[in-house]
Amino acid sequence: MSHTVTMGGMTDIESIERQNQHLTESNLRLHRILASLPIAWIGTDTQGRVYEMNDAAQAQFGYPVFEIFESCLAEVFLDPEDRETFNARLQDAIRDDQKIAFELPAVTKDGNRLMVEWSVMPMQGMDGTVTSVRLIANDITERVQQADRLKDLAFKDALTGLCNRRSFMDAMNTVGTRSPSQVCSVILMDVDKFKSYNDTYGHPEGDTLLRRIGDILGASLRDPYLPARYGGEEFIVLLPGASTDQALQVAERLRLAIESQTQDLHGATVSLGISTTDDLTIERNSVIEQADQALYSSKHNGRNQSTIWTPKLAA
Ligand code: GH3
Ligand code: MG
Ligand code: MG
Repeated sequence: MSHTVTMGGMTDIESIERQNQHLTESNLRLHRILASLPIAWIGTDTQGRVYEMNDAAQAQFGYPVFEIFESCLAEVFLDPEDRETFNARLQDAIRDDQKIAFELPAVTKDGNRLMVEWSVMPMQGMDGTVTSVRLIANDITERVQQADRLKDLAFKDALTGLCNRRSFMDAMNTVGTRSPSQVCSVILMDVDKFKSYNDTYGHPEGDTLLRRIGDILGASLRDPYLPARYGGEEFIVLLPGASTDQALQVAERLRLAIESQTQDLHGATVSLGISTTDDLTIERNSVIEQADQALYSSKHNGRNQSTIWTPKLAA
């Protein structure tokens, strides 16, 4: 065997061995850095079976890697209904040899649900084909929760948890745009003698009553009927597809439910006004105006009743 001697006096073999050692060490260093990164990552084979997890991933999901070694990632971390989607996305990334990202919830060993942004990175082997996958599992639970809280603040009434006036008007717009010629009714409701209720039992008790009414509305109405807190002690219900008669039945049901289900809170009644339109695009605001006129009539005639709007109420 002949080997040449290099200028430095080192043989080719020695030089290659040195290079190999450098490579191995640099690989080890890289691996240590990757392992200790504060980002959770998981290594799988092309079938999604786990063979590697860094410290952050083990901490995030609560599994030591040996416990789930060679288990199917989707089966360990994903809800049963999400597993097919997850595996399909994994195969998409492998087939296209392209990094993809998507959001799917995961469940930790303790049973905690996390919202996770998964980044799937196919890894090529020596021959250029994808031989493994590295996944980054970014826990975005807090970000999603914060976004939900902001959305709630913007669209929900803080006291009752119902839609607020603004999102009610948005919903009305949407219904009007989607099905402009569909019949649609509105029920406007106002608590009777609420000022004296507050004066007698105190403002916090008044709030409790409003919350109870919100609960009753929420529990009594099903999609597409939409209840909202319209203002202080006024509530409103949008009833897409409901005729005047159907809306009256709903109004009476709500009125009786509120009367009977507030007895433990000193008892309270509400007055209601009903208006119906078959062209929400034009009459969006006037249908509420008419419901208000009908409500006024209920008050005028002794409260604790429902009134259907008729043109003579406009006078
Ligand atoms: P009516 O039967 O004619 O409706 O009489 P009313 O006393 O209910 O009518 P009025 O409009 O005079 O009083 C409404 C009261 O509702 C006054 C206000 O203090 C009270 N109110 C409005 N918003 C809230 C709220 O968020 N919490 C509480 N506790 N009271 C509220
Ligand atoms: Mg009022
Ligand atoms: Mg009132």
